[in-house]
Amino acid sequence: MRALVFNAAFDVTVDEVPDPQIQSAGDAIVRVVATCVCGSDLWYYRGVSPRKAGSRIGHEFVGVVEAIGTDVGSVAVGDFVIAPFMFSDGTCPHCLNGITSSCVHGGFWGSQGTDGGQGEYVRVPLADGTLVVVPGGQPDAELIPHLLALSDVCGTGHHAAVGAGVRPGMTVAVVGDGAVGLNGVLAAKRLGAERIIALSRNPARQAIATEFGATDLIEARGQDAVGAVVELTGGLGVDATLECVGSAEAMTTAFAIARPGSRVGFVGVPHDIEFPVNIAFQNNVGLGGGLAPVRTYLPELLADVLAGRIRPGLVFDLEVPFDELPAGYAAMDERRAVKAMARLA
Ligand SMILES: [Zn+2]
Repeated sequence: MRALVFNAAFDVTVDEVPDPQIQSAGDAIVRVVATCVCGSDLWYYRGVSPRKAGSRIGHEFVGVVEAIGTDVGSVAVGDFVIAPFMFSDGTCPHCLNGITSSCVHGGFWGSQGTDGGQGEYVRVPLADGTLVVVPGGQPDAELIPHLLALSDVCGTGHHAAVGAGVRPGMTVAVVGDGAVGLNGVLAAKRLGAERIIALSRNPARQAIATEFGATDLIEARGQDAVGAVVELTGGLGVDATLECVGSAEAMTTAFAIARPGSRVGFVGVPHDIEFPVNIAFQNNVGLGGGLAPVRTYLPELLADVLAGRIRPGLVFDLEVPFDELPAGYAAMDERRAVKAMARLA
């Protein structure tokens, strides 16, 4: 089968790799119908995070179950399934507590001997705990991007909003206009925020933010953005802040616009950030969020997608043939695309 392989910074290729096999009784084999590139993939793509040459990549996919191990009970051959960006058993104390991203038996796609999500087939360990079945079998083509968004960005944006403590009526700010930040806007709206301030300078991203529920757009960055948000809120700062980038500048901005007594929900993979402990102390600003337990949120978000209440897949603005997915990485790296996806069948 074909799958994406990381060779070196700015060098990912579609290679021929061995077909996956059931290795343990809890495994399933999924034939991938659609997969996509994540903003977090760009950290190793750009050489910022180390990654082993030859490693398999990708962690967002939807597809059809082709085979199951003898212990698998919650998914059947032929089911259309969504895979969250990590696998988890669903039964350990952390999973039962809702933090599936800390599952004691779980892990990331493309590591510990598992397949990456950007391939024709994926062996899914702990299939019962990991996969979520979409009722009704193979969905319409139009629905696929919205289901694919549930594998990561929709649930991660939701986690930022939950971490920030978003409640009905609040004024919320979202730092970051990538696919996660835009889904953070969607999540804040879904949780009842009244005013949603999106920080974005890109017209295409601003349009999606507005579609998702942003009421105010701030085009400035850094201190200018802080000043603009503070002014918009009458000098108070916002009731909840979503940090969806992972850079030091984004975290500094987030803490500077957070109203005293509020929380910052952070979901961007942190790089070279120093936690602003003095501001946190001075202003009683807390930090929530972290590595998103997307599996926990999947059922409730899937219900909203199937009911047509949310359309998180609007963040996909580039669709390429699977063999050209490396071009999707380049497009995202150069900010020519918010998020690239490929359909395989
Ligand atoms: Zn677990």
